[in-house]
Amino acid sequence: MTKPVHVIRKVETIVAHDDQTGAHVYLFDGDIAFDETAILHVGGRYDGPFHREEHGSGRMLLPGLINIHCHSDEEPLSKGIFDDMGTAALWGQAMYEYSTLIEISEEAREASLTVMLGDLIRSGVTTLVDIAGPHDAWLPTLVKSGARAYAAPGFREASWHVEDSHRLDYRWDLPRGREAFQKALACVDAAEAHPSSRLGGIVSPSQVETCSPDLLIEAAAAAKGRGVPITLHAAQTMAEHEELLSRTGMTAVQYLESLGILDERLILGHCIFIDSHSWTRERTETDMALLAQRGTTVAHCPVTFSRSGMILESIGRYRRACVNVGIGTDSYPYNMLEEMRRALICSRIAGKSVFDIKTSDVLDMATLAGAKALGRKDIGRITVGAKPDFSLIDLNHPAMQPVYDPLRNLLHCAAERAVKAVYVDGRCIASDGKLAGLDYDGAVQVMREASKFTTGRIAANDPRSRSLSELAPLSLPVKT
Ligand SMILES: [Zn+2]
Repeated sequence: MTKPVHVIRKVETIVAHDDQTGAHVYLFDGDIAFDETAILHVGGRYDGPFHREEHGSGRMLLPGLINIHCHSDEEPLSKGIFDDMGTAALWGQAMYEYSTLIEISEEAREASLTVMLGDLIRSGVTTLVDIAGPHDAWLPTLVKSGARAYAAPGFREASWHVEDSHRLDYRWDLPRGREAFQKALACVDAAEAHPSSRLGGIVSPSQVETCSPDLLIEAAAAAKGRGVPITLHAAQTMAEHEELLSRTGMTAVQYLESLGILDERLILGHCIFIDSHSWTRERTETDMALLAQRGTTVAHCPVTFSRSGMILESIGRYRRACVNVGIGTDSYPYNMLEEMRRALICSRIAGKSVFDIKTSDVLDMATLAGAKALGRKDIGRITVGAKPDFSLIDLNHPAMQPVYDPLRNLLHCAAERAVKAVYVDGRCIASDGKLAGLDYDGAVQVMREASKFTTGRIAANDPRSRSLSELAPLSLPVKT
């Protein structure tokens, strides 16, 4: 039985993939035809059979964006609470002392995930890696969204504890970590075995310094045995960098190399504080060369880090060293186009030059580099045989006017405002901001209620029992 074919005629601009050069190219006024399994035709006139036809004037067809690092769970609930906070002794990082105080109620997990998925899809994401704790609604909600999703259930053996707002301690519980590891593997297996072909699993030890060397090695072996990627946070903060230096004498990258797990299967979030970063003291270039040699991917998430005054130095430098750098949104606002814009700006600031990185480089990162990280050649590109995952951008949107170079207008100006529709497996999963498979508005209502629980638990979770207003003063004084 033939599958229904959908044709979009004379698309004004297609960001197509040139299979010969391996690069994205503009293709003007061409047809695209696809069914639910693959793209059948790109450019020129399509003369084959079809079931549905529409016109593509005023549209740019953009390859589906690939977000290789994001967190659902409590992250969407953290919005606006600790954005001005940090621990000075831990290089200003808020994660250890403040973010750990955010607690999500069991009932809010599905809503939190729904909000994240909705925001990501509406910014053109068609594939994502969600690093979170396993829960019953996780895989069903990922499937319902219609996006291509990788469940990356986190596990670790140590938790963070900040004593008196200055010292970071690690509280180890090896049996609990092992139990979480087994539960995570069961979840990865369930995702891989799921009847939805859009679902996959990734082995995800949470952080390089919260897992023992044995666990990291076993996790890497478990990923290899299953033929799935592995991801973990490494070189993400100076506190972690200093902890590993004092524990092992090595940087995170060199430590992972010494364990024999630095390879092309590995995705490192966020790999900022490598030996050549200006905040560290090594002044060597060993890490960069190792990352490139081993084919390891860096999941770059500039929005959350730049919000804390931290910056990767620089994407241009990593790319020139041939390191595969993909893009993730990490936490809120879960806006992939905003993330790409920030990546470009931060890289030009860190690289001290407009020449550090081009607009096309950022698109490559959010598509081809992400696909490479996931070991796939069938996503992140518009070419015959690839998955029909793409967005239609409204070239006539006021924020896109006037159009000289549509990709630049999208990334530098319009962002998600101009995203008209998003397709995965040839099926429209979002149109004019409306999501086909998710109740976004309902989830927002649940989140409003859930935030009362979260803010109510903050003082109780604080080792020093500080009040919410003491921990997170409002950004403006309240006039009475
Ligand atoms: Zn992360």
